[in-house]
Amino acid sequence: MADKAGRRLALVTGGGRGIGRAIALKLGEKGFDVAVNYNNSAASAEELCEELSALGASAGAFKADVSKAGDVAALFKSIEESMGTVQVLVNNAGITRDNLLMRMKEEEWSDVIAANLNSAFYCTKEAIRGMVKARWGRVVCISSVAGLVGNAGQANYSATKAGLIGFAKSAAREYAAKGVTVNVVAPGFIETDMTSVLKENVRSAMLRQIPSGRMGSPEDVAKAVAFFASDEGEYVTGQVLAVDGGMTMC
Ligand code: NAD
Repeated sequence: MADKAGRRLALVTGGGRGIGRAIALKLGEKGFDVAVNYNNSAASAEELCEELSALGASAGAFKADVSKAGDVAALFKSIEESMGTVQVLVNNAGITRDNLLMRMKEEEWSDVIAANLNSAFYCTKEAIRGMVKARWGRVVCISSVAGLVGNAGQANYSATKAGLIGFAKSAAREYAAKGVTVNVVAPGFIETDMTSVLKENVRSAMLRQIPSGRMGSPEDVAKAVAFFASDEGEYVTGQVLAVDGGMTMC
């Protein structure tokens, strides 16, 4: 992390809250500087940057809608100008627009594809050149167990999360020989704002499927990301690590 090459810079998309926030803090704790991308609440991103500074990390908050190519280009330009080259990219931003397939509107499909999948394409494409040039880089995509086993009511979301896996494996093959790893973390049922909206009967049905007997925490996911981002992970690429309390083991 900070040992071999001084402090490295990580970008966490959608980093202002939830899992992204925990990832940003964990990377800060591990010796990375952190660029926090957000698209709505500047206050929580700024507050996170203060927490990161208290950990000794340089941190900056950057507003951008990563579902838009133009915003992503501007995001990387301003990070480069103010903090330097991104060496670790965490494609974390994501949304849900759940509906049964029969009722799913075209925009519920396309909004989710844009936020969850197109964003990873735009950001990884922007980041990869600098990583290849430095002969060191880490890309971590936050997928979901819904991308591994599907989920009723989430055809759009599951398609993006499965898509991230194919995307990451292909990129991993393209850049493995250049010192760049691309991996995937597939969280199970994690306690965040995204899941707080679920009804009690849905929560208890999901809990029954988790061998660990508890929902995961954002920190559980962050620890897996920190491994992939580290020097220790240098020979691990194109992998999918489910952080799900055993929910999808086979
Ligand atoms: P969350 O809703 O709390 O956080 C998502 C963040 O992404 C928010 O800060 C949001 O503003 C940001 N975001 C969304 N679209 C964006 C865009 N276009 N541009 C910039 N930022 C954008 O959700 P979370 O639970 O913390 O989820 C984080 C990631 O983990 C998502 O990719 C999600 O699909 C995935 N995930 C979550 C769970 C879970 O149980 N919570 C499980 C599996 C996977």
